[in-house]
Amino acid sequence: MENKKKIEEYIQILRDNKIRVTDQRVAILNYMIEKESHPTAREIYEALKDDYPSMSVATIYNNLEIFVALGFVLDLHYGAESARFDLTDCMHYHAICEKCGRIVDFNYPKLNQVEHDVAELTGFEVRSHRLEIFGVCPACQKNK
Ligand SMILES: [Zn+2]
Ligand SMILES: [Zn+2]
Repeated sequence: MENKKKIEEYIQILRDNKIRVTDQRVAILNYMIEKESHPTAREIYEALKDDYPSMSVATIYNNLEIFVALGFVLDLHYGAESARFDLTDCMHYHAICEKCGRIVDFNYPKLNQVEHDVAELTGFEVRSHRLEIFGVCPACQKNK
């Protein structure tokens, strides 16, 4: 139910921006909502290609770029990995494995104060911030 509400919100954003709501776009969004992961365009392609044979990796990539331009998907470039995409429906940070490229979300509410402090220190009107932690994930530690 929760997910159904989310997809409707994104569809509304598409409509508001006069972007056509196609089955493919909805399928990509559904995939990202359900997986709660940070897929590459190719991972989405592998998951959806049987249901949408006319969809190519390039189509998916183009659609993701539209979502990025609309502001509800983040394009994550970490190192040499191909771009990973992230739905930005709630504030979170990333821990990135330097061995396998896995990205794990985490929250750290104490950092909410940072924006306020930086605004005071610099006079900036602070809009957002990012934090990325790099290291080796538990699975890769075991495979040493
Ligand atoms: Zn790893
Ligand atoms: Zn994330």
